[in-house]
Amino acid sequence: MKLADRMSRLGTETAFEVLVRARALEAKGMEVVHLEIGEPDFDTPSNIVDAGADALRAGWTHYGPSAGQLDLREAIAAYINRRGTNYGPDNVIVTPGGKPVMFFVMLALLQAGDEAIFPDPGFPIYKSMIDFSGAKAVPLPIREENEFRLDVEELASLITPKTRLLIINSPANPTGGVLEKRDIEEIARLAVKHDLIVMSDEIYAEILYEGEHHSIAALPGMSERTIILDGFSKTYAMTGWRLGYGVMPADFAPVINRLMVNSVSCTSSAVQRAGLEALTGRQDDVKAMIEAFRGRRSLIVNGLNAIEGITCKMPKGAFYAFPNITGSGLSSKEFADKLLDEFGVAAIAGTSFGAQGEGYLRLSYANSDENLQKALSRVEACMKSLR
Ligand code: PLP
Repeated sequence: MKLADRMSRLGTETAFEVLVRARALEAKGMEVVHLEIGEPDFDTPSNIVDAGADALRAGWTHYGPSAGQLDLREAIAAYINRRGTNYGPDNVIVTPGGKPVMFFVMLALLQAGDEAIFPDPGFPIYKSMIDFSGAKAVPLPIREENEFRLDVEELASLITPKTRLLIINSPANPTGGVLEKRDIEEIARLAVKHDLIVMSDEIYAEILYEGEHHSIAALPGMSERTIILDGFSKTYAMTGWRLGYGVMPADFAPVINRLMVNSVSCTSSAVQRAGLEALTGRQDDVKAMIEAFRGRRSLIVNGLNAIEGITCKMPKGAFYAFPNITGSGLSSKEFADKLLDEFGVAAIAGTSFGAQGEGYLRLSYANSDENLQKALSRVEACMKSLR
């Protein structure tokens, strides 16, 4: 079939491909530890599941408003305002997962001749969607030497008169890096000076082990030029429900709403009721999950640092370890392939998140202590086999 030219510019997300390869090895009898997919291993808290199931039985089985149910949008605005912003329901569009926010924002804002700056390594869909829009994707290197925070001076050097959009992500996938308040302030200064729009991906805001989350949208002059991407997938272990949202200037929300009408019509009605319970109901399961991740973070990072030839920074947020594996003498892809094919650990090559990810591996530690221990022994065996 002849495809439209634009399809050649659309990328993908390797995690799903690695999962398929790991499953194929399992079908042949190999036992694989899965550290590739970025999702909590916990089930959705039971009060949320009950709210979703009750909603279906109560008749929430019809189309709803394309922007999302009013009471959910109010609850989302109130929740986000804890970051120091002043939003109301007209600033919120509910979407099936946070991912569509990327898709819609880039379709709505970018075109050939524009430039958009994105973190490298970073979530692969950022670059994919910038490319798809026809704009030029400009990578901003995220370096280990800088604790995996972006370097504001380097950012300033990449801004041109064509730069329209800047994407930031804190806490970050795949590095676990977290921007500090002073970073956010300097980024905001640049955004105002150069009239940039910022898409701030804050989906891991609650999964933070040190310090506080700072939203750029709360800084002077920023709410009118920021789109916050957030959702329920990570915080409430709701990846399969598909529930997320964008928070944006009130005059931009109708634009994103029009993309909702033209694509999915609305987010599942019963799922939105579950989302309302997630935000307004008890939060103890969320707290317990984050504490479990904190313990596993120490386990995996200390374990990796104990392996000769590997070093790993302690991530401050999200649930990924991003070890430096240059001591192996292999490329990221070679190491990830060897680890899966010969040692039964599914991980993702750092280069799946951009060229700057060379020399690194992403391991999701949203997994049991037992599996993490097993993975560590296998990574060690893999390193020893290379000596
Ligand atoms: N942003 C980042 C940085 C992510 O890692 C993910 C998921 O892995 C998403 C956004 C999208 O999540 P979802 O579409 O499940 O809300």
